[in-house]
Amino acid sequence: MSTQKFATKALHAGHDVKQTGGTRAVPIYQTTSYVFNDSDHAANLFSLKELGFIYTRLNNPTNQILQERLASLEGGIGAVVFASGTAAISTGLLTLLKAGDHIVASSSLYGGTYNLLNVTLPRLGITTTFVDASDPENFGKAVQENTRAFFVESLGNPKLDVLDLEAISKQAKKAEVPFIVDNTVATPALLNPIKHGADIVIHSLTKYIGGQGNSLGGAIIDAGTFNWANGKFPEFTEPSAGYHGLKYYETLGAASYTFKLILEGLRDFGGALSPTNAFNIIQGLETLDIRIQKHSENALALAQWLEEQEEVAWVNYPGLKSSKYKTLANNYLPKGQSGIVTFGAKGGFEAAKTIANTTKTFSLLANIGDTKSLIIHPSSTTHQQLNPEEQASAGVTEDLIRLSVGLENIDDLKSDLKEAFNKIPKEAFV
Ligand SMILES: *Cc1c(COP(=O)(O)O)cnc(C)c1O
Repeated sequence: MSTQKFATKALHAGHDVKQTGGTRAVPIYQTTSYVFNDSDHAANLFSLKELGFIYTRLNNPTNQILQERLASLEGGIGAVVFASGTAAISTGLLTLLKAGDHIVASSSLYGGTYNLLNVTLPRLGITTTFVDASDPENFGKAVQENTRAFFVESLGNPKLDVLDLEAISKQAKKAEVPFIVDNTVATPALLNPIKHGADIVIHSLTKYIGGQGNSLGGAIIDAGTFNWANGKFPEFTEPSAGYHGLKYYETLGAASYTFKLILEGLRDFGGALSPTNAFNIIQGLETLDIRIQKHSENALALAQWLEEQEEVAWVNYPGLKSSKYKTLANNYLPKGQSGIVTFGAKGGFEAAKTIANTTKTFSLLANIGDTKSLIIHPSSTTHQQLNPEEQASAGVTEDLIRLSVGLENIDDLKSDLKEAFNKIPKEAFV
């Protein structure tokens, strides 16, 4: 299997048709629980002497196929799926960290993740230092004695900064902490963070992987590379009171984190993915390879066109010659730079709002990665709860419009934006 190319794995990995009664499509196993052979069989499952399905909060055959497929596509040793990208991030962090621990994170993050790290986790005693990720040395400089993880987005949403993952991974290795990369915007079809030193990869499956804006989901892919026995993670080496004295690292080795995500993360926090949503996401994943190529092609063409429009102050897309991330994009995203484009409306806040209010083919909503084109004005919506300095470090300015460029004909996308530009009141420019 492992010698197969991406498009083939996206269609086949994890699904042994003989095990599902010959079904060519991955079936939906819509069940909460699984019948035991007898009480001894149940006891063996509960004590991990035997692996098998117990309850869908922990695992499910449809979800498992999605897990194996994602692990294969990202080059990990295992994966666990969750009810949303946010459930993956919060459970992933809470399975690693405890009160008193510290994270070093890029300041260019999805708004929800920024709030989790900046407001909610500090209530539990887990703090974060946010750094300017354009200089990888900043990660090393922010390391404290209690630092236990680095967290970044490979392609920041919405700043679209391409990170030098290899340089940051070196800093993580020096600090002996796992390097966690949210790869949602880039997708595994364009970038595999594990190849560049990531220990843990996170996805919101809601976006390009599901791809049609119909189902929430999230995933964590474990590279299996991190040494949990380095003394900084006693929960991996000491007997677990929550699991009849199990010593994760001694018993499960490289797969320790994957199992801990299921045995503690899903058991105790409960953010399980519904099998029907797993099915919907698998339908999307099967065509990710060709979709993301077209998203990237449309986004580049639209970004180049926007650069020529008089109503536009600036355009940010990592594939543009003018982008300050072009060199990093050539290195990390040579196959395409995904479908998100941001630009500044001349005339600022009000002009940007008018554009977002006026487009018809671009839907005004808070999502990315749909086959249909989407538009939003982050400063008044997704990032409204951040103060102006926080907005600036997340790359959000008042004039910024974020587009998620869909698969429509490019001419229709241009004319939709042009019509919106024509509606900007002339006063906005004075
Ligand atoms: C949307 C998104 C998330 C959160 O995912 P949900 O599925 O909406 O919970 C996390 N990270 C990034 C980069 C995202 O775009």
